[in-house]
Amino acid sequence: MAVLGIPRNTIEILQKYDFHFQKKFGQNFLIDTHVLEKIVQAAEISREDFVLEIGPGIGTMTQYLCECGREVMAVEIDRNLIPILQETLSGYDNVHIVNEDILKLNIREAAEKYNGGKPIKVVANLPYYITTPIIMELLEGDTPLESITAMVQKEVADRMKAAPGTKDYGALSLAVQFYSQAELVANVPPNCFMPRPGVGSAVVRLTCRRDSKVGVRDAKWMFRLIRASFNQRRKTLQNGLHNESGLGLDKERIVEALEQLGLPATVRGEALSLEQFAALSDLLGPGGEDNDRKDRIHGSDQ
Ligand code: SAM
Repeated sequence: MAVLGIPRNTIEILQKYDFHFQKKFGQNFLIDTHVLEKIVQAAEISREDFVLEIGPGIGTMTQYLCECGREVMAVEIDRNLIPILQETLSGYDNVHIVNEDILKLNIREAAEKYNGGKPIKVVANLPYYITTPIIMELLEGDTPLESITAMVQKEVADRMKAAPGTKDYGALSLAVQFYSQAELVANVPPNCFMPRPGVGSAVVRLTCRRDSKVGVRDAKWMFRLIRASFNQRRKTLQNGLHNESGLGLDKERIVEALEQLGLPATVRGEALSLEQFAALSDLLGPGGEDNDRKDRIHGSDQ
C-alpha cells in the first residue's frame, strides 16, 4: 500500500471510495510527511508499545504507528472510513480497527487487554470539535497513561499552557498541568491538512505524571470545584461555587475557607493557582471541615 501522507495518494484513495468529508466529525486529514514524522518521533513509539490512536481517518498516521509500535488500536467513529482503513492497513497484522466513538469506548478495558494494564501511549490528530472532552476524559479517567501526543487547535495548545489570571486559563489548563507535563512540539499551518482547517494547529506532548505535582486529598472533587469555578467566569468564586448545587456549599463556608487561605471574598476563580485550588478543595471537600492548610499554601509559589 502506498504511503498516504502525500496529497496524490490521499486523493486517490478518497476518490476510489467516493469519500465525502464530514464536517461534524472534524475531518481534516494530514498530508505532510514531515509533520507525521514529527508526531511519531515526539510520541517516542518503540517496538514495546501499545498505542491508542484516536480518529485514524484513512490510516495515514496509523501506518507510521504500526511500523514503530508493537500493537495499535485505531478508534474511528465514521463507519464510511472503516473499509478504507481495512485496505490501507491491510499490510499490518498489529492493528485493531475499532468503529466507535472514543468517548463511549472503555479505554481502561482495552489497556488491560492489550497492554496488561500498563500505561499506554495515546497518539492523535484530534477532531477539534471534541478536543477538550477527549483530553479531560483521558486525564481524569482511570486508564493508566504514559503520554498523549496530539494535534490540537493552536488556541487549545495555548489554553493548556496558560497561567492564572490570563484569559486562556481554565479547567483544561489546570487538568493538563495537574496530570501531566506539557510540551509544545510544533506549530502546524492549515496547508498541511486536507481540507484546510480555518485555524492554526499545534502538536503537543503531555507526559503523564505518576505522582501529581500538587498534593490534594480528592483530585476528582477538586476538578468538580474547578469546573464550577469557571462555569460562570464573570461571577466571583464565592457565587460560582454556591450556585453549583451539586457541590452543596453554603456561602459562609466558602468565605471562611477563602479567608483561611488569605484570599478576598470577591476573588474570581481565574486568579487561583493549582496549589490554591488544591488547598480550597481540601478545606471544602469531603472530610475537609477540620483541615487547615493555610500555612502551606501561603508558602507555595503562585
Ligand atoms: N488521523 C487522521 C489524519 O491525521 O489524517 C484523521 C484526523 S481528523 C482531524 C479526526 C478523525 O477523528 C476523523 O477521522 C474523524 O472521523 C474522527 N473522529 C471524530 N470524532 C470522533 C470520535 N468521537 N471518536 C473517534 N473518532 C472520531
